[in-house]
Amino acid sequence: MSSSAFVTGVLAGLEPTPNINIWQWADKYRIMPKGSAEPGNWRTKRTPYLKEIMVELSPQSPTQKVNVIKPTQMGFTEIGNNMIGFYIHIEPRFGGMWMPTDKLAEKHSKKKLWKMVSETPVLKERVSDRRKGGGGSDESSTITEWSYPGGGLSIAGSGSGSSFRSDSYAFAIKDDMDGFVDDVDGEGSPVALIDNRTDSFANRKIYSNSTPTIAGNSHAETEYEDSDQREYYMPCPHCTPKEHDQQNQDNMLTFNINYFSYEYNKETFALESEVILICPHCEGEIKEYQKTWMMDWDSGAKWIAHNPGHVNRGYKINSFYSPLGWLTWKDIILERLKAQAKMKIGDMRPMKKWKNTRLAEAWEENYSKLDIDFLKEKQEDYDNEVPYGVLVLIASVDIQDDRLEILVEGYGHDEESWIIDREIIFGDPALPQVWEDLDRFLLNQTYDHENGKMKIYATGVDSGGSKTKYVYQYCKPRYSKRIYALKGARPLDAPIISKRDAKKSKYKTTFFMVGVTQLKDVVWGSLNITVPGPTYIHFSTGKKFTDDFFEQIISEKKDKTGRWNKIKPTVRNEAFDLLVYSRATLAITALNVNKLQEPIFFNQMKSTVKKRRVIRGGIR
Ligand SMILES: [Zn+2]
Repeated sequence: MSSSAFVTGVLAGLEPTPNINIWQWADKYRIMPKGSAEPGNWRTKRTPYLKEIMVELSPQSPTQKVNVIKPTQMGFTEIGNNMIGFYIHIEPRFGGMWMPTDKLAEKHSKKKLWKMVSETPVLKERVSDRRKGGGGSDESSTITEWSYPGGGLSIAGSGSGSSFRSDSYAFAIKDDMDGFVDDVDGEGSPVALIDNRTDSFANRKIYSNSTPTIAGNSHAETEYEDSDQREYYMPCPHCTPKEHDQQNQDNMLTFNINYFSYEYNKETFALESEVILICPHCEGEIKEYQKTWMMDWDSGAKWIAHNPGHVNRGYKINSFYSPLGWLTWKDIILERLKAQAKMKIGDMRPMKKWKNTRLAEAWEENYSKLDIDFLKEKQEDYDNEVPYGVLVLIASVDIQDDRLEILVEGYGHDEESWIIDREIIFGDPALPQVWEDLDRFLLNQTYDHENGKMKIYATGVDSGGSKTKYVYQYCKPRYSKRIYALKGARPLDAPIISKRDAKKSKYKTTFFMVGVTQLKDVVWGSLNITVPGPTYIHFSTGKKFTDDFFEQIISEKKDKTGRWNKIKPTVRNEAFDLLVYSRATLAITALNVNKLQEPIFFNQMKSTVKKRRVIRGGIR
């Protein structure tokens, strides 16, 4: 059958399409594949908060833009999938779905959308099979470009320039929008570009959803501000009138985090009771099993606008609304307590994640301003010797045009650390002398501990900047001596360390990418702690630790996008970087410091590679 005959045949053979909306379509036709959270027939009743959103995305509603701020895994991506099914089957249109990256888009298409098509008969008979035709003719589909009678679908990553140039779309889905790239080929934000591609359709439908990230830099937050700002209100089983026409914002409640009640140990952050909800109106106790009744539209649950009358619809919800059998209230609170325990030792990351993915709230970067006096007050009376508590010594090296700066830091249990020594080697790093001096220092320098002598166990050398070649030349033959080349990784969420294989590197040297943003967050958190203990950084009164050292530590601040930048372009920041590289180096050694009972003295140190020809002679 030729492709045009295929289209005509399909169109002629179809029954008249019923006048239903998206959630009714999903309840009637959508089959969730095996392996999904709830296989079998889709039931909107299971996730009742999704119903109104699907109504608004249907052609019967005049609404054009719907934006959702949401936690992870609550079914909001499935709304997009249902929308696609509906606009293939009931009212065929051209549409596009964007996800943060091409990889995610392709994965979603393969694992979710094509599965939906193959399990849902009314879609299977419409979407041309991608396995036939091999993408040769106009009507055959590929993984990310679909064809069906009356329309087509593109599935793309947010940075895919071609997806914004070619077509215009009558419906658009922006899935997990806060993960989108900032700019597409210099043409601006994909969030705006997508809207532009829909401009020519009076009945366009734009659905965006996102888990928010950082306050002030969240698309989801900005779009929610520009909407009627709805929250999901439910009747209290004890005090709200049962008659729906008497229920309103003043006698219903939301699953606000502040209404939850539980006991926990203030020291260990262990949960010590059941998690229950206290009604803000009658103070009656509500147990988790009651949420199914509360969330049901038959009980009167509904979205209420806080900014009524706005032309755009905005919806905001948190994880406490997860249907019974999914994430529990207890799980959510346990995660919060764990994050609070981490916060106490200066690590804010788990709390940021909890707020983003559970409360669906953007994270306020509320960084305290450290000053020199605050840090200098921490100075303790030890100089070039190793205080009790230190178990291993790590050096980090920063390369400047005219010198090398070295920091020696000791680590004990629970990432508590002591600044031990600071050394500057003057000279041009392009010349061998500087590296010979560094070698002498790293390999020979010893520090007195009351039970023995300690040497530097491992060293990380920053290879960024203009002297990269010399750093690799130095580090390559010294890998077995635990002297590692490091390089800062730019992405905000880059892992703390990731190894790069020598074969793939330009200088044929194994090196490590360092997640500087994450580690700077950690260092900053540690610097703010006032009581010695886990992750606290001790400072020495040694005469090498002059004011400029402390100035360098507080030389950067975080901007709205979550990146660390120098306060002034001229300020020096070596000491802050060295604290970061020191922690990365400790991570590379994979040493479990918490398991050490005794310090690693120099006569116990072994090379990581035992049988190895030692290369001598410095730089060649
Ligand atoms: Zn009540």
